[in-house]
Formats: sequence, structure tokens, C-alpha cells
Amino acid sequence: MRPIKACINLSALTFNLQSIKKIAKNSKVMAVLKANAYGHGLIESVKAIKNVEGIAILTIEEASKIRKAGYKNTILLLEGLFAAEEIYQAEKLNLNITLHNDRQIEFLDNVVLKNPVSVHLKINTGMNRLGFPPDQIDYLIENLNANPNVSDITLMTHFASADEKEGITKQLDCFNRITDNYNLSSSVANSAALYKFPESRLDWVRPGIMLYGASPFEDISAKKLDVKPVMSLVSEIIALQDLKTGQAVGYGNNFIAKKDMRIGIVACGYGDGYPRHAKTGTPILVDQKKTTTIGRVSMDMLYVDLSNNPNADIGSEVEMWGNNIPVDDVAKNSGTVGYELLCNVTASTRVPLEYEDG
Ligand SMILES: *Cc1c(COP(=O)(O)O)cnc(C)c1O
Repeated sequence: MRPIKACINLSALTFNLQSIKKIAKNSKVMAVLKANAYGHGLIESVKAIKNVEGIAILTIEEASKIRKAGYKNTILLLEGLFAAEEIYQAEKLNLNITLHNDRQIEFLDNVVLKNPVSVHLKINTGMNRLGFPPDQIDYLIENLNANPNVSDITLMTHFASADEKEGITKQLDCFNRITDNYNLSSSVANSAALYKFPESRLDWVRPGIMLYGASPFEDISAKKLDVKPVMSLVSEIIALQDLKTGQAVGYGNNFIAKKDMRIGIVACGYGDGYPRHAKTGTPILVDQKKTTTIGRVSMDMLYVDLSNNPNADIGSEVEMWGNNIPVDDVAKNSGTVGYELLCNVTASTRVPLEYEDG
């Protein structure tokens, strides 16, 4: 077996939820577990945060697994129903469904449910991804109130720039102008908003990335947010090469040795979810010592500088990201965000998830 694996520290996930609860104060927390819990494993993650007030995912299939695991609180389908017949499963599983387009309203208009469902009505306040325009909301609420298939309504929106300078003011003002007229539950904050903007901590908050111990911000580290990395992507050195000055490494001869040096070949590549665009100089840990990657990442392997690790050998432990190397630092060196790196581990299917404290 290849030595690569993703170690999932579930007690860190539990810790991060507590950390978020402290920040969120009186808001209920809806843990966002889409994309297989950002690559960490859906059901294991549910078990680590089993008392959380709500869970948000995308599909009925995921919701069904979560109910089977014994979870009884709110489950929200973030994109609502994809097909009319899903309404019956949503009813049976007691799911909360997002309504963001006319077709989904029709699904609700055209059935007779024994048990009415809770809905999250999504308002497009400026991100222009999902949701109804603000000027339709009064009309929609009136109709939903009159719909016997609907038990209760939560109003929601999503921010485009909560993690950036622009912030949430324009979108939140737009949301509040509409929702001030109603006595309905509301939900707006992702991780970045709930951390930075107290005014966004409404009835619900919807943290994703912070649960997994990474940061939504370019300029604030996960450590500063008081969350701990949950996933450590680890592998081993499987070969050594001693380079002479001027010798090249890897595809495209992307790296040329400026001095005689030893390098290590690590069993981890873009086929495992490591970013191919990671630049020479991306931080990586070998035998508990920080060093950097060099050259171009291959499908199954990458290269590390061992100039300062004379004792490193075949079998030496390597951490691509985790407790010592923040996933956000690897992301920054690769022109992407921690979110993508964590999700890509699941997408690869070659990396077994190994649970600690499970
Ligand atoms: C993914 C998602 C979140 C969580 O965002 P983070 O930045 O990971 O905290 C919240 N709300 C919606 C609608 C989402 O799609």
C-alpha cells in the first residue's frame, strides 16, 4: 500500500465547534458538511459534532445517511430539491429545504403532504448565484404562509465578500430591509461573516471552513481564529536523489539545483489532491522539520529539499499539511484556497481517511 493517508482528528472538529459557538454567542449553529464534510468524511464528522443544532448538506442521499446515523436536529438542503419527487423523501426525513427558484416553489404547490416541511427562502441580496430578487419576497412569503405544505419559513442569504475588504454591509442592509417587516427566523453568516461581523449572527450561523480548522481569510490565520486543523495529509519519502549543481528536477526541468544538494521524492501528487500549481518553496514537513517543495508536482509524487535534513531517508515521514503546515499556506503558494485542497482529497479516492479519537 502507498504510504499516503489523511489523518482526521475528530477531537479537533469537536473543539472547533465549541470555539465557533463561543464566537456565535446566542445564534444556533448549522454546521456545513457539504462535499463530504470538506473532505473529512460525512458520517464521522456528524458523530463528532452530534449535538449541533443544525447540519447543512446538498443532497437527499447525504441527508438520509445522516438520519440513519441517528441525527435528529435540523438538516438543511442548501440547494433545495433538484427534482419534484424528492419532496416526499424530504417530508419523510423531516428535512428543511431551501427554496431559491420558481421551479422549487412549483414542487411545493403541486403536492399534498401529510407533514408540512420547513423551508429556507433564499434571497439574492447581491451575490447573484442563488435566490429570489428582493422585490419578490413579500409576495413569496404571503404565498408560502398560505401553503399547507409549509410549516415554517426561515429567510436566508449568502455573502459574496464576507472575507474581503468590501464586507457584508450592502448585502446585509438589503436583507434587513426586507426581513425587518417579518417575525421570521433568519440565517446569513458563513465562517468569515460570523467571525468578523457580529451583526450577521442572526438566529442561525452557517460555518463551514472554520469547523475544519482552516481560515476563510487571506490575512487571518486559523490559529488566530482559535481553530485547530482537523486533517493532516501525510506520506513518506520513497526515494532520494543527490543533485549536482546545474542538474534539473522533474517534468519541464522546472527546478535547477544552484548547489549540490539532496532531495527527497514523496509519495503524494496531484492525483491525491495535492495542488499541481504549488510553487517551488511551498512549505512541507519532513521528519518534523520544516522544508520546502521544489520542482513541478507530478501525479503521484512531489519533490522536497533535504539540504537541511541530512538524516532524512526512505521512509521518513512527510506532512503536506496539518498541525505543522497550515493548509492555507499550501493554498497560498498554489494560487487557491484551503477549501479546495481539503475537498480534493476526497475527490482523489486514492487517499484513505484514518480517524483518530473516533
Ligand atoms: C458553503 C456554504 C457555507 C459555509 O461557508 P464557509 O465559508 O465554509 O464557512 C455557508 N452557506 C452556504 C449557503 C454555503 O454554500
